[in-house]
Amino acid sequence: MSDVVSLLAQIEDTGRDSRGPGYQRPGFSSTERELREWFLAEADARGMDTEVDANGITWAWATSPGENAVVTGSHLDSVPGGGAFDGPLGVASALAAFDELKSSGALDRAQRPLALAVFPEEEGSRFGVACLGSRLITGAIDADRALGLKDANADTLADVATGYGLDPNRIGEDQSRLAGIGSFIELHVEQGIGLAGTDEPVAIGSSIIGHGRWHFAFSGQGNHAGTTPMSHRADPVVAASRVIGDIPVLAAAADARAVATVGRTLIHPGGTNVIASSMSFWLDIRHADDAVVTRVLEAISARAKEHATDTGAEVSISQESYSPTTFFTAELNERLRSVLPTAPMLPSGAGHDAGILAPHVPSAMLYVRNPTGVSHAPEEACEDDDARVGVQALAAVLERELGAEAGSGSSAGSAADSSGGGR
Ligand SMILES: [Zn+2]
Repeated sequence: MSDVVSLLAQIEDTGRDSRGPGYQRPGFSSTERELREWFLAEADARGMDTEVDANGITWAWATSPGENAVVTGSHLDSVPGGGAFDGPLGVASALAAFDELKSSGALDRAQRPLALAVFPEEEGSRFGVACLGSRLITGAIDADRALGLKDANADTLADVATGYGLDPNRIGEDQSRLAGIGSFIELHVEQGIGLAGTDEPVAIGSSIIGHGRWHFAFSGQGNHAGTTPMSHRADPVVAASRVIGDIPVLAAAADARAVATVGRTLIHPGGTNVIASSMSFWLDIRHADDAVVTRVLEAISARAKEHATDTGAEVSISQESYSPTTFFTAELNERLRSVLPTAPMLPSGAGHDAGILAPHVPSAMLYVRNPTGVSHAPEEACEDDDARVGVQALAAVLERELGAEAGSGSSAGSAADSSGGGR
C-alpha cells in the first residue's frame, strides 16, 4: 500500500486551477466526484466496504459496520485557488493510518468498528454554506433550506444532488447514523502559524472559534456611465465599496482579535460603461467570543445602512451561516493527550466538519504543521516527513480508541462517552 505522500501524489493533478496555481475542487462538482471515486477505489483496494449516504458523505468500513464506531476522515473539495492539503491530507492520512493499523495487527485486536469518512462541500465554495455535509447529517441546516441553496449558475442543491446520484427527498438529518459514531477524529493541515517554527509537528485541537457568513446586497439605479451626472446617481458599487473600506477599522474597534473579511463580491450587470444596478459582498467574521462577532456585525451593518442612505442605494443583509465557538470533546482530548503527550493544544480560526459534529458526537482534531502558515492559497504547505508523523499520530490515536493497543485487553473509550463538545 502507498504511504501518505504517494497517496497525495495520486491526486495532485486532479482539479488544478486553470487560471493560476492551486486547485478548483468545488463541492458536488465532477472534480469532487472524481476525487471521491479515487477514495472509493483506494478503500476498495484495501478490502473496505464503501457506501455514499443520503447526504453525499462517503463511508468506508475498515471493519464490520457497527455501533460506537471510531471514525476518521476529512474532505476533498477546495476553496477557489486552494492548496493541496486542506482536506486531502486528512483523507490520505486516514487511508495510510488504516494501512498502519492493518500491518501492525491492531485492526485484528480492535474492540470497536472503524470507518473512514469523506464529507462533501466542506468549504461551502459552491453553495455558500460551509461544512454542508456535516450540517445536513446533524440537522444544523434544515433540509428544505439546503435544497433551495443556489450556486453561481442558479442551480439548486436539489438539482445538483440529483446529478450527483443523491435523492433530494432523502437529504437531511440522520440521527441513526450519527448515533453509531462513538468518536470522530479529523486530521487536518494546520491553517495558521501555531506550529511553524516549533519542534512539534502535530497539535491537538482545543476549539474552533465562532465564525459566520453574511450576504450584503446593495441595490441602486442602473444607468448610463456617460449621461448620468454624478449628482443623479444611486450607485450601489460606491456604497458597498465604502463599507468594505471601513471594515478593518470597525473590526479593530470591536476587538483587537476580531477578524472580518470580504473575499467575494458580485457586481450586476458588470459593464465598464454601466452604472451597476446591484452589488453584493459576502462578509466572514470570526472571534472566540460570540458577543464580539455580534458587535462586529452590528457595527458593519449600521455603517452599511449609512453608506447606502448617503448614496441613494438600499441594502439588505442576510445570514448565510453561523457557528458559535465549539470546544472539542474533553474526555476524547484527554485520551489523545495520553497518546501524544508533547502535542500542544491549538484553537482553530478555521471551521471544520469535526466542529459541526462535536455537539452531537465525541469529536477531536489533529493538526499537522504547515511551514508557511498559509492556507486557502497555493502556498499552503506540509513537509513529507511531517505528513508521515501525522499518520503515525493518527494511527496511535485510533489504536487507543479502538482498544487495540498491543498487550492491552482493556477497552479504550467508553460507549457511554457522549458528553459532546457543546459550547
Ligand atoms: Zn479543510
